Formats: sequence, structure tokens, C-alpha cells
Amino acid sequence: TYLSLNGSGGLKWYRPLRLQHVLDLKSRYLDAKLVIGNTEIGIEMWLKGIQYQFLVCVACVPELNKLSVKNDGLEIGAEVRLSELLKVFRKANKERADHETSSCKAFIEQIKWFAGTQIKNVVSVGGNIYTASPISNLNPLWMAGGAKFQIIDCQGNIRTVAVENFFLGYRKVDLSGTEILLSIFLPWTRPFKFVKEFEQAHRRDDDIAIVNAGIPTWNNELLQGVLKVRERDILIKEDAPGRMVSHQMEGKSSFTESVSLSRLSAVQ
Ligand code: FAD
Repeated sequence: TYLSLNGSGGLKWYRPLRLQHVLDLKSRYLDAKLVIGNTEIGIEMWLKGIQYQFLVCVACVPELNKLSVKNDGLEIGAEVRLSELLKVFRKANKERADHETSSCKAFIEQIKWFAGTQIKNVVSVGGNIYTASPISNLNPLWMAGGAKFQIIDCQGNIRTVAVENFFLGYRKVDLSGTEILLSIFLPWTRPFKFVKEFEQAHRRDDDIAIVNAGIPTWNNELLQGVLKVRERDILIKEDAPGRMVSHQMEGKSSFTESVSLSRLSAVQ
């Protein structure tokens, strides 16, 4: 489907039905933006006044919407909606050995605090990852769970990046203009690996997180070590995005302080 939304060609909207067509469009229009739930793009266009010339709706591309349960973990297409992902996590949690699903349990708990049902029904996992926002409830959990991201370029070459190398900075990720996120691989947890979610916000429901964390197994020794080095390693500028500097830097030894470190390292 192709639609020009303005007679002078101001915005062109494509709705390809095959991955190959998405890649062709990306090679033709390097600044084309993929769109699924439109919850980030919409805000950029309506509230921030950013103009995009080419939008490519990938909601109906089967290769990007696949969910496969494998022996070693879950393969999640980049455009899988959050509500669908939640169903698969719940199913895995019921059907698989308890030790394998520690990450799934953490996601199930964390998704409870992710916006309302209507938003969860439309937003994509890939849109959340690509946005690389420090308020993301999910990115710290991909990191704690040892996820890997598969990236495909316009020629069809695929590369795999460990999640900790993918986030380069505030809203910056390791993707060039000719690449898109294809899928996410989340391994089942091994025995004695535990993943725990954490979110702190001003309000219980429907609020942006002040602190988000995904925490792989920590012991007291590691926690004490982290608290010692945090002051030296983490320097937050007064104008840091989100302006929660005082919240993160006050106090020295509480649990909240230690988990804020996880969130910061996820963002940096
Ligand atoms: P879109 O707006 O469609 O796209 C976002 C960006 O990702 C675009 O730049 C797009 O081009 C790019 N993109 C998408 N897929 C790919 C891909 N495969 N490869 C390359 N680039 C890609 N976030 C939270 O973490 N927690 C919350 O509680 C939360 N609450 C929200 C509440 C509201 C009311 C709103 C409006 C937003 C909220 N968000 C929250 C943020 C937002 O919902 C997420 O970031 C969402 O997951 C983005 O997905 P989307 O499908 O809407 O992205």
C-alpha cells in the first residue's frame, strides 16, 4: 500500500507486506522511518514538530511479527506488540521448567507498570528498544536477561549484537540508516540465575519511571562493591535528561541507590 498524504508529496506512507519490501524502501529512502504503534513517532511529529517525509508501517510484515519458542530461548520479532509478548511470557512461565523462566517472570511483573492496555495492544518491542529512552521499563530487563539483538541491512546481511553494546547513549543505538532491528533473542535462564525487575515512580499507576532496573543475581559482596565505585564512576550532569539528578545522587547505601546504578549503566 502506498499513500501520499499531501498533494505536494509532503509525507509518503508505505505499508509493505514483506521484509524484502521494507529493506528495498530503506535502501531507496535512507531517512525513512519505520512505524508501528506510533506512540513515539506521533509525539515527535505532533508535539516536537519533527517532519518525516517517508513513513513505513511495518505492522503487517510477518517476518517482523514472528514469535518462536526455541530450545535455548525465545526469538521475538521486532514488531511484536507488547500484549502478544506478555501472552507468550505467561505461557512459557506455565509450561517450562521454573529455573528457565526467571527473565519471563521479571518481564511479566514489569509489563504491569507499562502504560495502559490500549497502549500495550499497539506498541512494539522494537519501537521501545530503538527509542533507547531511560524511562523504558524493558531495556534494563533485556540487559539483565542477556538478550541479543539481530540487525538486518538493506542487502539482507544479518549481524547479532549483545544488548550491552547496542545502547550507545541517550536515545542513541548501534543502527545505521540502512539497518533495521529484525528480532530479539532472549535466552532461558540457567539454574541459579535469577532476574529481578524494579521500577520506582511518583505514582503507582500510569507514571513515568524515575528509576528502572533489571537485576541479574547480585550478592551482598557485589552490592557493596558497586556502592563503593558508584561515586567515582557515575557523574550525572545537572542538566541530565529527566532531571532526576538529586533523586539519584542523594543517599549512599540504600537499595534504591544501588539499582539506580543498573538503570544508569543501561542508559550509558
Ligand atoms: P513507534 O512510535 O511506531 O516507533 C518508535 C521508533 O522506533 C521510530 O523511530 C521507529 O522508526 C523505530 N523503530 C521501530 N521498529 C524499528 C525497527 N525494527 N528497526 C529500527 N527502528 C525501528 N514506555 C515505557 O517503557 N514504559 C511505559 O510505561 C510507557 N508508557 C507510555 C505511555 C504513553 C501514553 C505513551 C504515548 C508512550 C509510553 N511509553 C512507555 C513509550 C512508548 O510506548 C514505547 O517506547 C513504545 O514501545 C514504542 O513503540 P511504538 O511501536 O509505538 O513505536
